[in-house]
Amino acid sequence: MYRGRFAPSPTGELHLGSAATAVFAAARALQMRGVLVMRLEDLDVPRVVPGAAAALLDDLHWLGISWAEGPDLGGPTVPYTQSERHLLYEAAVEDLARRRLTYLCDCSRAEIASAASAPHAGEEGPRYPGTCRPHGMTQRSFRRSPALRLAVPAASLITIDDAVLGTWSEDVAQTTGDFVLRRGDGTFAYQLAVVVDDLAMGITEVVRASDLASSAPRQALLARLLGGSAPRFAHVPLVVDGGGRLSKRARGVPIAEQRRSGRGAIELVRAIASAYGHEVGDRSDPIAALAECLDLRRLGVAPVHVSRLM
Ligand code: GLU
Repeated sequence: MYRGRFAPSPTGELHLGSAATAVFAAARALQMRGVLVMRLEDLDVPRVVPGAAAALLDDLHWLGISWAEGPDLGGPTVPYTQSERHLLYEAAVEDLARRRLTYLCDCSRAEIASAASAPHAGEEGPRYPGTCRPHGMTQRSFRRSPALRLAVPAASLITIDDAVLGTWSEDVAQTTGDFVLRRGDGTFAYQLAVVVDDLAMGITEVVRASDLASSAPRQALLARLLGGSAPRFAHVPLVVDGGGRLSKRARGVPIAEQRRSGRGAIELVRAIASAYGHEVGDRSDPIAALAECLDLRRLGVAPVHVSRLM
């Protein structure tokens, strides 16, 4: 049984780029005659905007996207809001700790940056050089409240078979090193929560934006260490502006604004499909039409210019 999911963070409005990803996640679930799960990823409390979750769900409904399970509908793996799933994350961390796969770390960002020999271009900074690893879980005196890291086993070679981007391999021990599972302030890391949830919810495929592709190897490794296997991934190319960078403008075109300006949902979904190589004609349900002709390989790897969605 195909189980996909869409997992927005209620940290702002739904923008064109995430709307595009949602459209493909919904069409793919239809194509596979499976289920789309909606999960709210609200762990980053300071960034959560009050009211944003309800507005996100409303915008998604307006686009014609429906889900079978979610925070508003319930389902077999309640709750569907990460801030209510702490016990599961705690249990996963304890399981890893029992197997000596975690350790406490009080290194600051600056210390890590200056100690790292091979800076990694990832958005989470350089590879962690393992400074605190020899201390394990010993309760020494910490200079600041410690984070909990995964002790990544040596030679953690992971191969990702991405339905859009193709196949690539990465040794997580080399690229990222021991990554954070729980931050010093007690917040569970995105990497941990997403893996625990995808396993618990029986997710078989993840369709999401390609800026998260660099997280896939870490997530696949963590899934394996937790006794499961990662879902299949399909990373949808980003919406960018003229400079080829992730566009402030692309991010800054909220669906709510498009709605207010009188743009129709059908036309918008049609424009999204077309910008990513799929012509869906003038059917009144463009997501169903997209599901019929969807070929994930045709999404390509090149980013899509925001003007094609306007
Ligand atoms: N919550 C993430 C976001 O809104 C998505 C995480 C994921 O799909 O793995 O960007």
